[in-house]
Amino acid sequence: MAENVNEALVLAAGDGSLRGVKAALKAGADIDFYEPDSDGTGPKPIPPCTALHLACIMGHVDVVRLLLRKGASVVKRDRASFAPLHSAVSKGWIKVVEVLLQHGATVDIRDGFQNTPLMAACSYNHVDIVRLPIEFGARPDVDDGYIAERLKVEAENRVFAEESLKLLEEARKSKLLRCCNPKCHKPDYRKNLKLCAGCKLTRYCSRDCQKQHWSVGHKKCCGHDVYSDEQADPFQKMTVQLTKQLLEQADQM
Ligand SMILES: [Zn+2]
Ligand SMILES: [Zn+2]
Repeated sequence: MAENVNEALVLAAGDGSLRGVKAALKAGADIDFYEPDSDGTGPKPIPPCTALHLACIMGHVDVVRLLLRKGASVVKRDRASFAPLHSAVSKGWIKVVEVLLQHGATVDIRDGFQNTPLMAACSYNHVDIVRLPIEFGARPDVDDGYIAERLKVEAENRVFAEESLKLLEEARKSKLLRCCNPKCHKPDYRKNLKLCAGCKLTRYCSRDCQKQHWSVGHKKCCGHDVYSDEQADPFQKMTVQLTKQLLEQADQM
């Protein structure tokens, strides 16, 4: 048994135990509990992320649904600066990705390396998952993240993630973006879609769509979609800086 209800919650989420998650919440666990300095030792270490994040990594879609219903945060980052959406995408859990987006997770949320989930999906060549964020309004033309930079290089020699890159190119060429209301997805030209004034990351075909997205979850995400070092905890800062150094070294080799 975990030491306390918060740890019990994270472990139950990782195990995919609906019963365990419910019991921990009932016993008063903090739904967004996060142990950033967990050092990964001990018989059953608590990973440095929230219960929702861990369920997203493991692909436990029922637990993800339950936690979202109970108000778990989709913007809280793990120690590596990833939002739950980045992790679900990188693991290839299409159903989890869909559920997160339906609950208002911002489709173009950035991690500490400026990557969007769509970029992450391309880098893993999860072709089905590349389609999904595009359908939910992701910008295919983002080119300033670390992965986007890499993809530009890869696109030139076509050895990597070929199918994903093809989809991305098609989406760019169409010049169409989608309404970010998860119940709408209407395609339109960028100039016709209205940007959310708060985050300037989501866009809508109508006021009604904006209102609907706000009520399904954007209210809690708006303004928390960009990773910044100032808001990061010391562990996140350290992890991101170290990773960046390693990536730069790898690029120079
Ligand atoms: Zn719409
Ligand atoms: Zn917004």
